[in-house]
Amino acid sequence: MKLEGKIAIVTGAGSGNGREIALELAREGATVAILNRTKEKGDKTLSMIEENGGKGISLEADVADAKSFKESISKTIEKYGKIDILVNNAGIFDGQETFPTTDEEDFDKIISVNLKGVFLGTKYTLENMLENKNGVIINIASVAGLRGGTASPAYTASKHGVIGLTGDTATKHGPDGIRSVAICPGMIETAMTKEMLEDPSEQTKELIESIPLKRVGKPEEIGKLVAFLASD
Ligand code: NAP
Repeated sequence: MKLEGKIAIVTGAGSGNGREIALELAREGATVAILNRTKEKGDKTLSMIEENGGKGISLEADVADAKSFKESISKTIEKYGKIDILVNNAGIFDGQETFPTTDEEDFDKIISVNLKGVFLGTKYTLENMLENKNGVIINIASVAGLRGGTASPAYTASKHGVIGLTGDTATKHGPDGIRSVAICPGMIETAMTKEMLEDPSEQTKELIESIPLKRVGKPEEIGKLVAFLASD
């Protein structure tokens, strides 16, 4: 097991990529704090971990809300004494919206969850990691963080921002013993893409056709990659 004795936080671990990341980290021996907006979904992930013989805690948290997010990070530190791994995974998606169809409020909402959430998680977890001179922060960005035209303006901007925050953390805190890494998945089969995949538009079909493996990814594949990146 690669992660025995490690304490991990995974945001948005009540579904899709986050759930599989939490399950895989636990399979590799980490104790996992599951932070999710809807507590019941986080509880379900925790029970799946416990059924496999793993350990963890489920906490209700909104990553866009500093008070709620900070409290759940503090509770994790109180219970386990440290944080070794933070996975900033929670995110929302507004499909293929364009500038004319994106309201200011929608833009703010996406940025608050996808980008400010990563800032808050990093800021409040880093305090503990810096004390321990050890930690890894893994941010779930997207191919939409590398180029325009694959998603909405808000989602694209938020994921470009996530890559920016990752680089800032890695360069400023690498010397303190902290690693920060972003991963940029293409389309993955989760609740976020369910509608698009069940009734694919021409654009979605073309997108799948452009993937060298000619298939979308599975959340389990993201889980295994994150477990590798979290390992020493
Ligand atoms: P998903 O199945 O919809 O899961 C998202 C999870 O995040 C849910 O458990 C959701 O909880 C939680 N969440 C949403 N907003 C939150 C908030 N403000 N605070 C706390 N938790 C919150 O989506 P997914 O596909 O697994 O996406 C996970 C990450 O992967 C996202 O960052 C996404 O941008 C990224 N990603 C996905 C794909 C893809 O094709 N699926 C590709 C590239 C990157 P509730 O249900 O309670 O709201």
